[in-house]
Amino acid sequence: VTQEPRLKICQVALDTPVRRLFDYLSPSGPGPQVAAQPGMRVRVPFGRQQLVGVVVHLRDHSEIAPDKLRPILTVLDEQPLFSEADLSLLLWAANYYHHPIGQVFAAALPRLLREGDDGLRPTTVWCLTAAGHAALNDAALNRAPKQRLLLQTLAQNTETPSAALNESLTEWRNAARALVEKCWIESHQRNSNADAANAAMTLRETEPVPSSAQAAAIQRLLAAPHGGFLLDGVTGSGKTEVYLRVIAAVLARGDSVLVLCPEIGLTPQLLHRFEQRFNAPIAALHSGLTDSERARAWVTAARGQARIVIGTRSAVFTPLPRLGLIVIDEEHDSSYKQQEGGFRYSARDLALLRGAQEKVPVVLGSATPSLESLQNVAMQRLTHISLPERAGTAQPPRLVLVDMRAHAVHKGIAMPLLQAMQRHLEAGAQVLLYLNRRGYAPSLVCQGCNWSAPCRSCDARLTVHQRADRLACHHCGAEEPRPTRCPRCGYEVHALGHGTERVEETLAERFPQYAIERFDRDTLRQQQELEAAIDRVNSGAARILIGTQMLTKGHHFPDVSLVGILNADQSLFSTDFRAAERLAQTIVQVAGRAGRAERAGEVMIQSQYPEHPLLTQLLQEGYAGFAASCLTERAAAHWPPFSRLAVLRASAATAAAVMRFLQAAAALPNSDTHVVMRHPMPSTMHRRADRYHAQMVVESLDRMRLQKFLDLWVPQVEALPGTQGLRWALDVDPLEVF
Ligand code: ADP
Ligand code: ZN
Repeated sequence: VTQEPRLKICQVALDTPVRRLFDYLSPSGPGPQVAAQPGMRVRVPFGRQQLVGVVVHLRDHSEIAPDKLRPILTVLDEQPLFSEADLSLLLWAANYYHHPIGQVFAAALPRLLREGDDGLRPTTVWCLTAAGHAALNDAALNRAPKQRLLLQTLAQNTETPSAALNESLTEWRNAARALVEKCWIESHQRNSNADAANAAMTLRETEPVPSSAQAAAIQRLLAAPHGGFLLDGVTGSGKTEVYLRVIAAVLARGDSVLVLCPEIGLTPQLLHRFEQRFNAPIAALHSGLTDSERARAWVTAARGQARIVIGTRSAVFTPLPRLGLIVIDEEHDSSYKQQEGGFRYSARDLALLRGAQEKVPVVLGSATPSLESLQNVAMQRLTHISLPERAGTAQPPRLVLVDMRAHAVHKGIAMPLLQAMQRHLEAGAQVLLYLNRRGYAPSLVCQGCNWSAPCRSCDARLTVHQRADRLACHHCGAEEPRPTRCPRCGYEVHALGHGTERVEETLAERFPQYAIERFDRDTLRQQQELEAAIDRVNSGAARILIGTQMLTKGHHFPDVSLVGILNADQSLFSTDFRAAERLAQTIVQVAGRAGRAERAGEVMIQSQYPEHPLLTQLLQEGYAGFAASCLTERAAAHWPPFSRLAVLRASAATAAAVMRFLQAAAALPNSDTHVVMRHPMPSTMHRRADRYHAQMVVESLDRMRLQKFLDLWVPQVEALPGTQGLRWALDVDPLEVF
């Protein structure tokens, strides 16, 4: 089929499950249309609907018959949103993770942009009028509490954006309407982000003088035109300080910087640290943003108006003209791997690829590097830079194991830890306790017949939530009222085990004179609540901190001198090949919260198995020694990073259906003897949210061979018959295999 040569064919990525690009004709028709360019969004007809997609390539011919080709309806951007380099990163990701290209683009774009919005919608801000100020104590408001609350909220600031009101108040819009009618409040449209690209890059605060190790690290990073670096520095060694110095130099030469942080590592504290240091426009991309805030931040970055982009996993796809440096903080963190949904990518690995493609240095920082990165150092794919000592005068904390069998244990806390708490609190310091289990107790059991409250939808027990007086499943979110008697035998039931809520209760009884701050998803649902809690810790109002993972990452609490790890045993006997690595990382990271300033730090790790080799080795040899022997074990067992894995995960309404599908996938031909297809297996939690989950592992010692196998296999898996009601996803380089 021949085309008239002047007709340009646009190949467009559309958010559909189809694994290819779609051909459209360049827009014709009347009006001054911009010519479609790669990287621009376009609106196209698709069946009887219209979809927004991204032009990936221009071609002068198409395989599609000319009379079947339809024209693009509108070109949505005047300038490409994605550069050639951005497009090639996304194409690479679609290929490597074997995911439909259109869905990969959809994952890279904020929702509003995906829907065709330009992302620069002005924000609506609200403020009090003079009459509104005068009316603050008006008795007429006694019968309108919502209006009064809104008025009081607005009185706190000169202007309050709608998004902030959405977060702090519920159903405020009716109250707003009533107050506007009374002329007590008014709203305005604000266009933020005037072109700030040329803002002066002056430093706002004085920097500490780098230690000699920091200075050496900074020098090596600045001397490197490109390449990957592992900044391996103990907790509190001043890694962030190194990033900040290097970033300052990159900004000074006119380039921009991409900084990636773990999901809960992008704390207000870290953001403030960047804002205080640099007088440069920063776009922050994290889960706390509204859709329009996210779209605006993204567009600012793509147009070169932000000089620093700081964000979580998906920020790795943010276009950034004149990219000069990529930083990945806490590179070992599992939140860099997308583990849900269809497109399961590693932001760390993609960042390394992006750096290589755009020829800019990539810095991976961690106190507990992933075994992958350590192996990359051994293979000379990453350059190792170490910061072996804590910055300033801070000393490394002292770690001890507390044998839970040898001591009296008071509601989950052993005597030596209680005594140490007393000592540190009396000395005026703060104490931090870590327990990776929220709720009051992990199960509700009957003392008569041993019944324990099960989730109706999962192979799991329900967690007791005392304050809410409910039982909740932490896997599917189901909730039910808490029974007072056993539904099976009628005997009394009681909460068994300890979660953060219960530990808080225990400590409140034991140390009534010290204020407690609990950090978990039940107490801190919103960013503002987290900020307030951090403020109470930093002001010294809170003295005892108890929390889950939320408390362990990125925080710098200078007055914490004692850290207690309440249960180190949860993953000692896990079957997952990464469990030991994760546990060691958690222990070292939590321990790293102790003694970060003048006060000497002490860490107590409670265990039923203090003689376990993992724990003893970690304490005797530190993370580096532990990681070295862990790598030796992985090599012997041919686990990653010495082999490459892909997992086909599936779920269905019945156990038979999911196994049938995986068995059919396992029976597909494989001509490469260097690629092994393992037997399909039910997942550790077989039934979850009323579906049966199972998976099969494919492995090879050779990445290329595995990729070639997947190229042939995945389309055949997709074409397997009888998959109604079945869901599946391919997980390349999975973090877990069970
Ligand atoms: P990391 O990121 O490795 O945990 P940070 O960069 O947060 O470490 O530094 C830990 C603390 O030490 C911070 O309060 C920081 O301001 C301080 N710090 C960093 N470098 C120095 C230095 N060279 N001299 C004095 N204090 C420093
Ligand atoms: Zn459940």
